[in-house]
Amino acid sequence: MSFNKWEENVRKVIPYTPGEQPKERNIIKLNTNENPYPPAPSVRKVIDDFDISAMRLYPDTDSEILVNALAERYNVRPYNIFVGVGSDDVISMAFMTFFNSDKPILFPDVTYSFYDVWADVHRIPYRICPLDDDFRINPKDYKTENGGIIFPNPNAPTGVLESVDMIEDIVKSNPDSVVMIDEAYIDFGGKSCVSLTEKYENLLVIQTFSKSRSMAGMRIGFAIGNEKLIKYMNDVKFSVNSYTMNTVTQICGAETVKDEKYFSETTGRIISTRERTKERLKKLGFVFPDSMSNFIFASHKEKNAGYIFEELKKRKIFVRYWNKPRINNYMRITIGNDEEMDELFKALEEILHE
Ligand SMILES: *Cc1c(COP(=O)(O)O)cnc(C)c1O
Repeated sequence: MSFNKWEENVRKVIPYTPGEQPKERNIIKLNTNENPYPPAPSVRKVIDDFDISAMRLYPDTDSEILVNALAERYNVRPYNIFVGVGSDDVISMAFMTFFNSDKPILFPDVTYSFYDVWADVHRIPYRICPLDDDFRINPKDYKTENGGIIFPNPNAPTGVLESVDMIEDIVKSNPDSVVMIDEAYIDFGGKSCVSLTEKYENLLVIQTFSKSRSMAGMRIGFAIGNEKLIKYMNDVKFSVNSYTMNTVTQICGAETVKDEKYFSETTGRIISTRERTKERLKKLGFVFPDSMSNFIFASHKEKNAGYIFEELKKRKIFVRYWNKPRINNYMRITIGNDEEMDELFKALEEILHE
């Protein structure tokens, strides 16, 4: 490839590849870990009652209504919360704010495939720490010199949950760097590290409304941490774009957080479906690390994952597959509702018994 002179000064990156969002209807979409249930019913009323003339005005740069609702729900102070346009926005801001050392940041080999993309775009050196054969983190890997640490808990795409004690040990061993725990899937049965943020000023916990709160399309993410961490993040955010989260989203987000009953009902339903799905997958000859998230990372004893993925797609069932070392014989199946899972199993039985 030949470059024009100006192209020498382009910030060249290989972008993140999100899961497909097919335009067709009548498909079964189990590929991006979206929630099969609608958002909390009170969100309906917010939309119906919204006075559109409010759109003339810039949104509240502090997203106060949402921050306050989150502070109450998570038992912290508003100054402990940073909100952003999806946790992707929050994590990118956090990388920019905290990962400015010459030392490499650390994250696992099998993990959220956005981390290396952000590291590259923000020009942060990184080192990958391979998970063990059971896709578990070895805490020793995170006790070497580093410029920061990030991993999801439960991990994606494996679904494996690590203990709060193990994470506390890592945070405690790294007083000189910021440790970020990406809790995108913590509401599906895991124990959160939020309470540790009171004790450790170098810990940032990140969560999202996209999975457990059924709002992937609204783009809401947030981080909880020490007042100083949050202040530093806001300084960076207000140096890039102050008006990121729109007014409607702020109000809808706040309403969602207040409906605890609906939240525990829908996450509970997903957890039950997940446990039934594990049993059915086992019977069909799949193996998988035990998942504490809203997806299962499964491999079949005989049939190749890439093949099953393509066959499911022909039947309009979308799951996620990566043709990457170590994981190219796995597919990640999002937990849908019971009817969707029944359709999935009907198709799998067909494909496996051909
Ligand atoms: C889905 C996901 C996110 C991003 O979610 P947003 O929709 O941007 O809030 C972040 N981290 C992990 C591990 C995820 O799976």
